[in-house]
Amino acid sequence: MKVDGQCQCGAVKFEAEVDPAMVSICHCTDCQNFSGSPWRASVPAPAAAFRITAGSPATYVKTADSGAKRLQAFCGACGSPIYAAAQVDTPTYNLRLGAVNQRAQLPPQRQIWTKSALPWAMDIHALPGTDKG
Ligand SMILES: [Zn+2]
Ligand SMILES: [Zn+2]
Repeated sequence: MKVDGQCQCGAVKFEAEVDPAMVSICHCTDCQNFSGSPWRASVPAPAAAFRITAGSPATYVKTADSGAKRLQAFCGACGSPIYAAAQVDTPTYNLRLGAVNQRAQLPPQRQIWTKSALPWAMDIHALPGTDKG
């Protein structure tokens, strides 16, 4: 599926090809921390089909306990997360679903790192809601 997207301020834009079956939710503590949310939804895009079409994301390199380095790309102006990728020549770009314009058509298909999931974030149906803030 062809997708495009951008950060909140529009300085960074991209387009990519993704497999809707690969959309996932990650409950790891890094995703909680980096996203500022209880969990994060992402979809992988192969390097061959990923292209930055405007701007240039800022990056932060996270070194895991294993020593593996992972690039976190975000808009340097508005801070929106764009993708994460291993520091290799042709990485898979793990696109942050909130930056993808077609996110409403990309429901997550699985969850990972559920051992660190916040119990209160697993079912929000019972919370009172309003149409707008
Ligand atoms: Zn921005
Ligand atoms: Zn994660």
